Amino acid sequence: MEGLIGPISRKKLEEDEKIVAPIFKVRHFPLSVLKAEGPFIIDSDGKRYIDFSTGMGATILGHRHPKVISAIMDQLNRYVHICAHVGQYDIYTQLAKRLSELTGGILGGTFLCNSGTEANEGALKFSLWITGRHHVLAYQGSFHGMTAGSLSLTSSESVYKKRNLPLLGNVSFIPYPYCYRCYLGLNQNSCSLECLTFVERYFETVRDPEDVAAIFLEPIQGDGGVIVPPAEYLHKLQKLCRQYGVFLVLDEIQTGFGRTGDWFAFQKFKVKPDIITLGKGIANGLPLGAILVKKELIDKLEGVPHGSTFGGNPLSCRAALETIQVIIEEKILDNVQKVGRSLKRALTNLKKEHFIIGDVRGEGLMLGIEFIRNPESKEPLEARSISLELFKKGFLVPVGGTYKNVLRLLPPLNISEELVESFIETLEEVVTKIERRIDYYKEERK
Ligand code: PLP
Repeated sequence: MEGLIGPISRKKLEEDEKIVAPIFKVRHFPLSVLKAEGPFIIDSDGKRYIDFSTGMGATILGHRHPKVISAIMDQLNRYVHICAHVGQYDIYTQLAKRLSELTGGILGGTFLCNSGTEANEGALKFSLWITGRHHVLAYQGSFHGMTAGSLSLTSSESVYKKRNLPLLGNVSFIPYPYCYRCYLGLNQNSCSLECLTFVERYFETVRDPEDVAAIFLEPIQGDGGVIVPPAEYLHKLQKLCRQYGVFLVLDEIQTGFGRTGDWFAFQKFKVKPDIITLGKGIANGLPLGAILVKKELIDKLEGVPHGSTFGGNPLSCRAALETIQVIIEEKILDNVQKVGRSLKRALTNLKKEHFIIGDVRGEGLMLGIEFIRNPESKEPLEARSISLELFKKGFLVPVGGTYKNVLRLLPPLNISEELVESFIETLEEVVTKIERRIDYYKEERK
């Protein structure tokens, strides 16, 4: 067992990794982790990084939050696995109740699973089952997961589906309101939400809405490049869905649990979904997903042929219950709003000084910086070199967007103003350095 746990040299890790699926050759960072604590990750050389990735939006209270760890330890001494199909257990029920309360009581009928993709698979089945309809709409630029059903709803990068077709044939894609790069070629001044008209036309000409079970939507697209829709779009979409009895399924896997400064993004945007899916941060790094449906739909779930052996694992349930408690006790939502505001303000100021920053957007502590080579053409500038420069300087900031030109800021929700300020200083240095290499005026003169 020597060397399995504990300090391992980078060389040995690299050697041992030959046995790991080579899909991980494309990682965000050349990082070998030794340990992680709060907002920090320490690598096998002892170097400290400030973690703006939170394991892709999962460790929302930072790594190993002491209260969450002690709840998990306590649960280890009670029971570790039961399976919700075998018997009822207290913490599954308590968590279901807490989640429903956090939605303001409008959603319930909680089904717990293991991950985000599994939550979306379930939500898809629930929508088809309850409505008895067969078609589903999803958005260009969306990311809902990597298993067949969720992948069928995903379109942030076509490569995700390469050599995997056919997937589900009952999914069509509609344009997301990505105002900085409108799918319909409009700009913000000339736009009257034609992307919404697109859905209306679709219902009139392509598919009768009574054949459509649901529209799956991320309230803010994450993997697609942190894209925030206008609130008006969401309100009008909700109205359209209600008019035709089409379910509005909000994938809150990334936006949920305080990431945007509210418990859920639907509360921020003031929309009422029929179904929501949760994952990532809800158990602060332990695997857990959840589906909640509108109260009026709960009875309709009776008899749905669905299940999971590990869904609602007791350790994950305890971690989730404690995560909720900590968010309340430590006033985490206030921190997200306060620090999120100053971070966004600082980024917006940086944008004024640097032409390679095309757009700064997001809500709370889910922020994106879109990079461009040229302000007129908005030609994307891949952000990997920026991310790697930040990595060298001790910051883990992942990249997203269809063109891989967006830095995705997903720090822990309890991050301090000081750490955010040090990030801004470092980002400014890096952006200045990279920008010097891309003198677009020079390129124009060529
Ligand atoms: N939905 C959204 C919005 C996501 O961002 C992700 C993951 O990035 C998923 C679903 C899939 O979650 P998981 O990786 O836990 O399956």
